[in-house]
Amino acid sequence: MYRNAKNVSYYMVGKGALGQLGDILRPLRAAQPQDPAIFFIDHYFNSTGLLSRLPVEGRDMVVYVDVSNEPTTAGVDECTADVKGFLNGRTPCALLAFGGGSTMDTCKCVGNLLNNPGKAEDYQGWELVKNPAPYKIAVPTLSGTGSETSRTGIVCNEAKNIKLGMNSDFSMFDQVLLDPDLTASVPRNQYFYTGIDTWMHCFESISGSYRNVVVDALAAKAMDLCKTVFLSEDMMGDKNREIMMIASFIGGMAAGFVGTVHPLSAGLSMVLHMPHGIANCYSLSVQEDIYPDEYRDFMNMIERQGIDLPRGICADLSEAQYTALYEASIVHEKPLTNRLGPNYRDILTKENVIGRFRRM
Ligand code: NAD
Ligand code: ZN
Repeated sequence: MYRNAKNVSYYMVGKGALGQLGDILRPLRAAQPQDPAIFFIDHYFNSTGLLSRLPVEGRDMVVYVDVSNEPTTAGVDECTADVKGFLNGRTPCALLAFGGGSTMDTCKCVGNLLNNPGKAEDYQGWELVKNPAPYKIAVPTLSGTGSETSRTGIVCNEAKNIKLGMNSDFSMFDQVLLDPDLTASVPRNQYFYTGIDTWMHCFESISGSYRNVVVDALAAKAMDLCKTVFLSEDMMGDKNREIMMIASFIGGMAAGFVGTVHPLSAGLSMVLHMPHGIANCYSLSVQEDIYPDEYRDFMNMIERQGIDLPRGICADLSEAQYTALYEASIVHEKPLTNRLGPNYRDILTKENVIGRFRRM
């Protein structure tokens, strides 16, 4: 069976585009004059004055999303309850997300839960969401996860020790607004760790076995753009921040199936609560045999940009922690098969995987 692929319906790109957000919201407000918009904003912006530049009205709700940790099923459930309480039976005219992957994913998951019964964990998997979410608008302030265009909202389920997305067309944003001015304040290391996520999604997808020509074309373009940015003198120059936003946007559309970088990265996030982007960097740093060319490129980029990746992060863990790392990694059967084939456990034995963690 072929999949009927969906893309984001509308997008606007350019320096200063944030100024046009009010125009984008206007018809949505006109169609539901009594109903509020819900603004999900990365907590970093609580003290920056961003709110005063947004078209927020009196009846709207502003939710500052605490992204100190990546989204969890419990956190998403709690946020959904707050938003439902505020809505009190009304249907929001739009949900808007301002932030990186954590904020955008929170918005996507809460959106699904507003129109579907039950809890976040009920929808972790593929095609489990039955009803469309309210209209959603993404305004990324950090580029790289591709959450703005992807069909997943990723959440950690602490009880089940698994990080898994709500993979559904209903998770997708309806509108994306890319304004590179918004990423100027991102700390350099963070900018790299998250930005490089695009490149990783794309090379994992393009070197895997589940492919199609459209996804390959998008992945190749996004990888080109990432290399332009990360092999340049200043990855955070004005032009490069715009290119990075576009790479992330295209990369999100290409991120069908990842390979072996993301599973080990997910292990680090689940067991050590390590953020996604830096966890990917550690993961690739011990996969020189599985992705030799990409490993070499990565080492060049990290050196060129002067990015920190201190070693020894898994040097002194307990046996139980190593086992948990192995288990939280090896469970990702689809991506591991994508890169290594169905017998991936022959290569990634428990000893082999733990050996890689020890080297990080
Ligand atoms: P993030 O959203 O967790 O943010 C990282 C840090 O950057 C936070 O401290 C945040 O406050 C800060 N920040 C964001 N914008 C800023 C700005 N403009 N200026 C200063 N600081 C800013 O980071 P992320 O890497 O974008 O997202 C990670 C999450 O995305 C993970 O949970 C990961 O699993 C998920 N993810 C989702 C997808 C998807 O397709 N949905 C894909 C990859 C990763
Ligand atoms: Zn990723």
